[in-house]
Amino acid sequence: MNSKVHQGHKARKRFGQNFLHDDYIIDQIVDAIHPSDDFTMVEIGPGLGALTGPVCDRISRLNVVELDRDLAARLATHPFLKDKLNIHQADAMKFDFAKLLEPGKKLKIFGNLPYNISTQLMFHLFEFAALVEDMHFMLQKEVVNRLAAGPGSKAYGRLSVMAQYYCQVVPVLEVGPEAFRPAPKVESAVVKLLPYAAPPHPAHDIGCLSRVTADAFGQRRKTIRNSLQHLFSAEQLSALGLDPSARPEQLSLAQYVILANALAQQKE
Ligand code: SAM
Repeated sequence: MNSKVHQGHKARKRFGQNFLHDDYIIDQIVDAIHPSDDFTMVEIGPGLGALTGPVCDRISRLNVVELDRDLAARLATHPFLKDKLNIHQADAMKFDFAKLLEPGKKLKIFGNLPYNISTQLMFHLFEFAALVEDMHFMLQKEVVNRLAAGPGSKAYGRLSVMAQYYCQVVPVLEVGPEAFRPAPKVESAVVKLLPYAAPPHPAHDIGCLSRVTADAFGQRRKTIRNSLQHLFSAEQLSALGLDPSARPEQLSLAQYVILANALAQQKE
């Protein structure tokens, strides 16, 4: 059989379709998700239902957000799943997850995400962090490394700072390409993101944190004196307790929040 055809569906590269078929891995992911009717359960990119089925065995209702019209239609007529699913044929990157909330429940979101959009999708999902109990995602391993990285490491960047602002990041499981059809060219990993009830380092204006991290890491090899010169003088950086000759990867989350809050104050 053509490895790109799975259960009669031709995998669409533009939708990042790599379908999980390893039952052992699927069980481990579903156990980690801990599906429960105490939460509003949401899957992003259910595809052919590799995770959807086993999750639905444990709960009574699941929201799924699937961009591919054909796959959404297949799920809508699936003999065992259709009665348990609220199917949203939509782009998860533009989706308003808040509208799924039920009274007294938080969201539990999971998915084997399309790797081509996973970083952008993460930034979109962080906006809903306050409404979320936890999130479990299969991602490119390199992206999980970036989410979890601390200052001083090569993988540390804007994604690390923004993720760790909102969430505790817990790598759960590494998964090889052979668990998927078709097999991706990269290694994968599952990560758990646990939003904080209150961010340990609160930013007065999240837009300012987004701005300073984008500007600093946008020019990784420059010192912050240079990459942030349009926002702060070297004297201002020193007055905030920061070394102007530091490189962006040397600053901690707490230090980025100091910069963000100083920028917010300047704007007042
Ligand atoms: N969950 C299935 C599995 O594990 O076998 C499929 C995973 S596949 C890596 C990614 C899924 O996300 C596909 O079903 C794809 O059609 C869907 N998808 C791609 N882009 C999307 C988007 N922007 N919004 C929602 N779903 C998307």
